[in-house]
Amino acid sequence: MAALAGLAFAQEKVNYLAVNGVLADDAGPYYFLAQGDNQDAFAKASAIADAMNLDLHYDDTTKTLTFASGSTSAVFRATGDIARGLVKQDGALVVDGRSVASPLAILVDGTAYVAITPLVAAFGGISPWNGDKHVITIETADQLGYDLGAARTGITDGVSRVAIDIPTGAGYTLAATGRALVIHFPEARAKDGTTSVDGPNISEVDVVSGDRQASLVVRTTYALDPEGKGFQVGTVDKNDTTTLYVDFAPTLKGEPIAKLVSSDPAAPQALAAPQPQPQVVVIDAGHGGMDPGTSSTWSVEKTVVLDVALKLKRLLEQQNVKVIMTRDNDSFLTLAQRSAFETPERNLFVSIHANSAPVASASGIETWVFGKPLDPNYINLAIQENGSGGQGQALTEKARQAADDIAAQILRETQLNFSMTLADDVQRHLIQSTGAVDRGVRKNLFYVLRTARIPSILVEIGFVTNPAEGRDLAQTGYQDKLAHGLAAGILQFLHGGGMLAQR
Ligand SMILES: [Zn+2]
Repeated sequence: MAALAGLAFAQEKVNYLAVNGVLADDAGPYYFLAQGDNQDAFAKASAIADAMNLDLHYDDTTKTLTFASGSTSAVFRATGDIARGLVKQDGALVVDGRSVASPLAILVDGTAYVAITPLVAAFGGISPWNGDKHVITIETADQLGYDLGAARTGITDGVSRVAIDIPTGAGYTLAATGRALVIHFPEARAKDGTTSVDGPNISEVDVVSGDRQASLVVRTTYALDPEGKGFQVGTVDKNDTTTLYVDFAPTLKGEPIAKLVSSDPAAPQALAAPQPQPQVVVIDAGHGGMDPGTSSTWSVEKTVVLDVALKLKRLLEQQNVKVIMTRDNDSFLTLAQRSAFETPERNLFVSIHANSAPVASASGIETWVFGKPLDPNYINLAIQENGSGGQGQALTEKARQAADDIAAQILRETQLNFSMTLADDVQRHLIQSTGAVDRGVRKNLFYVLRTARIPSILVEIGFVTNPAEGRDLAQTGYQDKLAHGLAAGILQFLHGGGMLAQR
């Protein structure tokens, strides 16, 4: 129970997935743990199959997910139990009949997720993680080009030789300037590195790779002339491989090669940075139109919350946060219409309301989150569902249904935890900014946020029925304080990457 409840399932908006250089936003990456690298990243099965041009088939009887391309198939066992699915195990993935250690495919709300690294590897591709740019860059086998082997060096009779093997027929170009000779291989991939060489003629051999290209840079101890002085190029063919070699010595005379124009022609093309997606906040000013909300002689809820919402909008937009208002005038939306603004494309949802109480003394600010913790009965059923042996096979329809429900519940609980963090941040900053009574963060089920799939909170910014606070709420200066507190809390949550509450 504790282990399950601690799991985080989140689309971390700061992370990206690119397939052959194209961002695949629909595919993920998705993290079931609050981490960001390629080892823990999952992708939505259908979307990554599209992006990688793979056929996809789910077999409900065997609970297996099959990706296929040409004669290659990768069959994942699937589970609705996130905790179990995350554990890397033999047999979770079978590639062309061969068992491979992998996490299982995980089913959440009827959607299948698969671990990116083993899937990509099964089809001969690579999926490195670029931590600086927060992007997993999948390159499929057809895009990779050939593997450039390691360069070999040697000296004979004062002549230094650098040799490298390439597939026969593979293209290359040569260029030289000053004390460097560059061999460029357009269709190659290679591991970047620098090798120092002890010798009279060459000092270093660098491998520099980029997007489906690699270059070998040979640094010499004397000046080269591209007209053919100081080096000699040759090839030796054997079977499917050609060995390309370049000999170096100041006295050698060879064929002319290109003169380098750039001082550093071998610099690989920088990995294109993914466009950072703007963060999107939905601000819901409560009530409106024919529904005034609560009111007193001092203030009317629908007016106060709209004023604060518009001030909050301006503050967030100054920080380059995109804002969507459920209303920006005195209009009325049904609760279902307000909920429609909560879609996965938004980062968070803030509903602003004002409070009332039968006793005039009640005052202060409170923030609500919505949802309920996991039902332990569902956990037990899910464990049965995933059990091995006879019990696992004797599944009833009811147990299967429960297993689907638990996945949905874990997702909801996770969203609840995110919302709790957002609520804590906003409540703390509101109290700091206004000095109002701190009524704390509370949990309940309200319609407007019940279906939320993004961190969602409802803030009661004060009591219109309190003589002092009711007057304050109508004052633009106090509304500024409220807007600043809300903005500070929201920005803290957004900048923190929306980490889970420690509860
Ligand atoms: Zn209200």
